[in-house]
Amino acid sequence: MASSSNNSIKQQNYDYFLVLDFEATCDEERKIYPIEIIEFPVLKINARTFECESIFHTYVTPTINPQLTKFCIDLTGITQDMITNQPKFDDVLQNFHLWLNNEKLLESNTKFIFVTCGDWDLYTMLPSQCNYFKLSCAEYFNRWINIKKSFKQATGKFARDGMMGMLKDLNIQHIGRHHSGIDDCKNIAEILKQLAKHGYIFEENRKK
Ligand code: AMP
Ligand code: MG
Ligand code: MG
Repeated sequence: MASSSNNSIKQQNYDYFLVLDFEATCDEERKIYPIEIIEFPVLKINARTFECESIFHTYVTPTINPQLTKFCIDLTGITQDMITNQPKFDDVLQNFHLWLNNEKLLESNTKFIFVTCGDWDLYTMLPSQCNYFKLSCAEYFNRWINIKKSFKQATGKFARDGMMGMLKDLNIQHIGRHHSGIDDCKNIAEILKQLAKHGYIFEENRKK
């Protein structure tokens, strides 16, 4: 990595980074099937300033296993109340598309890419839920940056302890609650900004 005193953010190949981190139904013995998304947060990060310009954030009512386990509540901090009377997953996908449109992210001259911590969100979770509910998954969900791989390329260090390990390595104070989707997004966005400040240029590096 370039010297840490180098604060020059280089021109990126995108206009916006969309930092995304799903939370889903779970328990300790992986007894739940299918697992369903219960929090859908996305930060719109300007690729020149690395500031957040807008947020899409909703909790989602699961339909197959509507009752959260104690394990899931303890892990994510998401309570039963927070997911009750929230939109269902198919509505959330539509609302997200409307948000992208309102944010002018779907215009042909605007280039965006998702940023996730690992490949689970967009390689495993979203396709499996779309498949289970026979919903079509928009094409834009196929492009993402796995920030763990970017971290490895930028620093030469393996992101052994995931998001928490990268924060520690980069001397970034963790904010909020780990496994809260919106807080995880904010922390991932800080890692993104820090790597950019070190002169890193992000490229799509998703699992194929
Ligand atoms: P994360 O983005 O790391 O907060 O995790 C996303 C989702 O993965 C969580 O909402 C859980 O459904 C599942 N998950 C994460 N960590 C664990 C764990 N230690 N045990 C079981 N499920 C987990
Ligand atoms: Mg995650
Ligand atoms: Mg999370």
